[in-house]
Amino acid sequence: MSARLLIVGPQGSGKGTQGVRVGEAWGIPVVSTGDVFRANVAEGTELGLQVKSIIDAGSLVPDELTSAVVRDRLAQADAAEGFLLDGYPRNVAQVMHLDEFLEGRDEQLDAVIALVVPREESLSRLTARAAEQGRADDTEEAIATRLEIYERETAPILDVYRTRGIVDEIDGVGALDDITARIFAALEARGLRPAQ
Ligand code: ADP
Repeated sequence: MSARLLIVGPQGSGKGTQGVRVGEAWGIPVVSTGDVFRANVAEGTELGLQVKSIIDAGSLVPDELTSAVVRDRLAQADAAEGFLLDGYPRNVAQVMHLDEFLEGRDEQLDAVIALVVPREESLSRLTARAAEQGRADDTEEAIATRLEIYERETAPILDVYRTRGIVDEIDGVGALDDITARIFAALEARGLRPAQ
């Protein structure tokens, strides 16, 4: 069944992993702005060249550019019936861009999954990931910048969506499968059922 979803959580909250699981179960594409930017950097596209130094520093890519990338992606046929956004919107300006785009299509978000993970836990997961994957923006400095931006700019978008009654707070600590089950239960409680 179609669902238009957003997953939000601090760095290291596991939103990427959980987002993919929800996307697969609901049969909807996962649109991760971080993945899109990293793929462009890896391929050396014009967009990649534009954003590389911004991403490596842990700063935000300009809103207009990011929103244009997301609009292009959501305009593709596979997103017509639903999608899961991961990493966008990331501030209130982007929320407004997304609202405008969705209104133009007579659509709206059905649910916002907010993964709740204490700061010490997400920090230790990030440090572990830095050692394993060596992502260019997993340096101590870039991590600190991203977490700070999360608190200051991203967390407030939840207040906007709370006033619309579409936020589900999910405890993001525990076994991966348990967290997935919590998310599925919350979505199903909204009448959003997986494809199979
Ligand atoms: P994380 O959540 O660990 O910071 P992401 O993969 O979501 O990682 O994002 C990596 C980087 O991509 C961000 O630090 C930022 O530079 C850029 N980025 C991703 N999404 C956005 C967005 N919505 N707006 C601006 N920049 C973004």
